[in-house]
Amino acid sequence: MTEEDYQQQRVAVLAEAELDTLAVRAGQVRGPEGEHSEPIFTTSSYVFGSAAQAAARFSGEEPGNVYSRYTNPTVRTFEDRIAAMEGAEMGVATASGMAAILSTCMALLKSGDHIICSRSVFGTTTVLLNKYLAKLGVSTSYVSPLNPQEWRDALRPETKLLFLETPSNPLAEIADIKALSALAKEHGSLLVVDNCFCTPALQKPLSLGAAIVVHSATKYLDGQGRCVGGAVVGRKEHMDEVLGFIRSCGPSMSPFNAWVFLKGLETLRLRMQAHSSNALALAQWLSEQAGIDKVFYSGLESHPQHALAKSQQSAFGGVLSFRVSGDKAAAWRFIDATRLVSITANLGDAKTTIVHPATTTHGRLSQEDRDQAGITDNLIRVAVGLEDIVDLKKDMQRGLDAL
Ligand SMILES: *Cc1c(COP(=O)(O)O)cnc(C)c1O
Repeated sequence: MTEEDYQQQRVAVLAEAELDTLAVRAGQVRGPEGEHSEPIFTTSSYVFGSAAQAAARFSGEEPGNVYSRYTNPTVRTFEDRIAAMEGAEMGVATASGMAAILSTCMALLKSGDHIICSRSVFGTTTVLLNKYLAKLGVSTSYVSPLNPQEWRDALRPETKLLFLETPSNPLAEIADIKALSALAKEHGSLLVVDNCFCTPALQKPLSLGAAIVVHSATKYLDGQGRCVGGAVVGRKEHMDEVLGFIRSCGPSMSPFNAWVFLKGLETLRLRMQAHSSNALALAQWLSEQAGIDKVFYSGLESHPQHALAKSQQSAFGGVLSFRVSGDKAAAWRFIDATRLVSITANLGDAKTTIVHPATTTHGRLSQEDRDQAGITDNLIRVAVGLEDIVDLKKDMQRGLDAL
């Protein structure tokens, strides 16, 4: 059998493979050295066999590597793997999660276009839309992630993108991906889902009708807080445009980071299950403690969108938040009394993190916007890691004792 036949048969096998198989196998093309693990191609450029081949590669007539700003084998392996896991035709890697969102908007929008965005998205996403895209003539309306009618009412002829994150940060609000996909399709616009909190291990927005998924690979795809990166996946017609933006404007992923993310993807589902079961146990325990007013986690049966979360996610993820009895000082005392978890705004890490959203991640919002978003001064967010639940409860108890 020729090497080519063998590779083709492997591609056919992977085309039918399940998520866990794709996570460790998809995208890898073994090279002439026969390496078992994915190599890191730390090369900026590539040598061509002839002037004619160089011309064919540059024009795109012949597929293959040209320059690592937009073609690199390690980055390509990561792109193909995350695309396969999300069930997408094609993926494009980016320098960060923000670069993924920027590249999607720059590739698919023009001056005069309009975006409808969930009010509960990552803070920097709203800065990108309000400060930078607005400057280029792209306007954004913000609506509740919980109310599809508000999205319908906000539609304009020039609405090109609907953008949401679910579950939201930090209050775990759940948007109905199926309903909003149908609305986008009916209107001829594209639903973009930031799938950072669930990852394809727990939620596959494309299978629910979304057109595009964006990721901050920095979070769970890496899973151990080592690198900054992002990805966009979707149909080839859209991803070719996103890749064109990366090629011309340069927010590319480095091969080393792509390699770290590839290794992260191999354990993604196992980690997401462990994050989810730890978070559910902690959310249940916290909701029974005196000193806790309310816990926000879509895995709790008391959560208002628990049924919706169950219908579109296979588990509930690692992020929860809760209100302590008292004010900002009480919340800070709780945080400062912990000894195991890390006080940091990062999430998606094996190490549990704790943060006070009102004065950090959501500190740039006005008091009025924070009130409207439910980011009260007594709210604490915990991104539950992979430590033993017994030790996590003990650490939260230290916080409770300080209230
Ligand atoms: C962190 C984050 C981003 C931005 O990703 P970076 O990799 O930090 O640029 C976007 N969306 C969500 C939901 C995030 O948590």
